[in-house]
Amino acid sequence: MVHINENFLKLKSRYLFSRIGEKTSEYQNTHPDKKVIRFGIGDTTQPLPSTILHAFHRGVDEMGDAATYRGYGPEQGYLFLRELIAKFDFQERGADIKPDEIFISDGSKCDTGNILDIFGENIVGITDPAYPVYVDTNIMAGNSGPIQSNGQYEGLVYLSANEANKFCPEPPNHQVDIIYLCSPNNPTGVAMNRQQLTQWVNYALDHHSVILFDAAYEKYIRDDNFPHSIFEIPHAKKVAIEFRSFSKTAGFTGARCAFTVVPKDLMGEDSVGTSVSLHDLWNRRHSTKFNGVSYPVQCAAAAAYTEQGNKEITELLNYYRYNAELIKKTLQKIGFHYWGGENSPYIWVKTPQNLSSWEFFDFMLNNLQIVITPGSGFGIAGEEYFRITCFGNHEDTQIATERMLRWDWNELIP
Ligand code: PLP
Repeated sequence: MVHINENFLKLKSRYLFSRIGEKTSEYQNTHPDKKVIRFGIGDTTQPLPSTILHAFHRGVDEMGDAATYRGYGPEQGYLFLRELIAKFDFQERGADIKPDEIFISDGSKCDTGNILDIFGENIVGITDPAYPVYVDTNIMAGNSGPIQSNGQYEGLVYLSANEANKFCPEPPNHQVDIIYLCSPNNPTGVAMNRQQLTQWVNYALDHHSVILFDAAYEKYIRDDNFPHSIFEIPHAKKVAIEFRSFSKTAGFTGARCAFTVVPKDLMGEDSVGTSVSLHDLWNRRHSTKFNGVSYPVQCAAAAAYTEQGNKEITELLNYYRYNAELIKKTLQKIGFHYWGGENSPYIWVKTPQNLSSWEFFDFMLNNLQIVITPGSGFGIAGEEYFRITCFGNHEDTQIATERMLRWDWNELIP
C-alpha cells in the first residue's frame, strides 16, 4: 500500500462551506416552498462588466483563427497584463513594483496555499479569525502539531483579532517568521490603516520575518488612510509577498484570474545561513507546477485597466456597497453590534444573547430562511460572531433585511 500524507488526517473533518451547504440543502429539501437567501458564501452574483466580457470574447475569437491562435503562454503571465498591473495597481500608488515581480495565476486561494512550497520549517503566525485556507494549508504542509482540545493546532501562533484590538492584532513581542495578514479582512471586514500596517512591516524588518499579505478585497477601500498594497509602506519589498485577485473586484470568481507579487529584494536563508531569493524560488515553483492562465482570461483581466473597464468595475463595486449600506442600516435598527462593511464587502456581527455561531446559524436558517456564515468556522476567536456578505443581488438583500426587521428579536430564544 502507498503511504499517505498523514498531515491531512489532522484537518478538521469538514470544510466550513461544505457544512453550510449541507445544512442549507437539507433545510431546502424539507421546506421546498421556502425561499432561502444566502448571506453566507462569499461568491459574487453580478455578471462580468461588459468591457471585460467583450475583451474575453475577443480573446476567444483570436484562439479560433490560425493567424492569432496562441498555445502555451508565459507561465508568469502575459507581459501586457503584468505591465498594466505594475503601473495602475502599484506604481501609481507610489509602490515600486516591476512587471517581472508579478506572477499571474488562476486564483489567490491556490497562491496563498501553494506559497508554502518555497518555505522550510518556520514559526507561522495566523490571525484568528482568518480565511480558513491559511491554517488548513499549513496543516497539510506539516507546519503544525495535532489539533488541541480548544480547536487550535499545536505549533501555530494564533494572533487574536478581537473587540479589544478592534480586530487588528498588533505584532507580538516574540519571534514569528511567517505572518499572514489580510486587509480588508475576510471575515471581519476590518481594514488595516497605514500606521497599523507600518507597525507590522517594522516588526518584520526587525525579526527578518515574511508577511504574506492578502489584499483580495483592496478595491473596496474608500478611505485614503488605508493602503491598498503593503508595498505602499516603506521597505515592505524586503519583507512581504502580496496576493491579489480579480475575483471579488471584477467578478472573476468563475473566470479565474489573480496575481502574486514576490519582490526581488525579498530573501530567505538556507540551513547554512546563505541568503536565497524568494522570488527565484517562486519563479521556479510557478513555472514547474503551473502552465499559465488562459489567454482570453488574461485579455479580460487587462480590460479591467481601461478607462471604461475601470468605470464599470466601480459601478459593480457600488452595487455591492449598496447592499452593505442596507445591511448595516438594518443591523443598527435591530441593535446588533457589527464591524466592517465600510472598506470591505464583509460585515462581522456579534450574535445576540451570546448564542454560539452555529446556534445562531440554525436559528437564522430555520426562522428567517437566511444563511449566514458562522464566525467560529474562521477560528475560535470567531465564536459568538457571524459574517454577512454583500455579494447578493439587491432583491434578495432587500427581502432578507425586511425579514430581519420584521422579526421580534426579544423572542429570539422561545
Ligand atoms: N483570499 C481571501 C481572503 C478570500 O476571501 C478569497 C476568496 O474568498 C481568496 C483569497 C480567493 O480568491 P480567488 O478566487 O482568487 O481564489
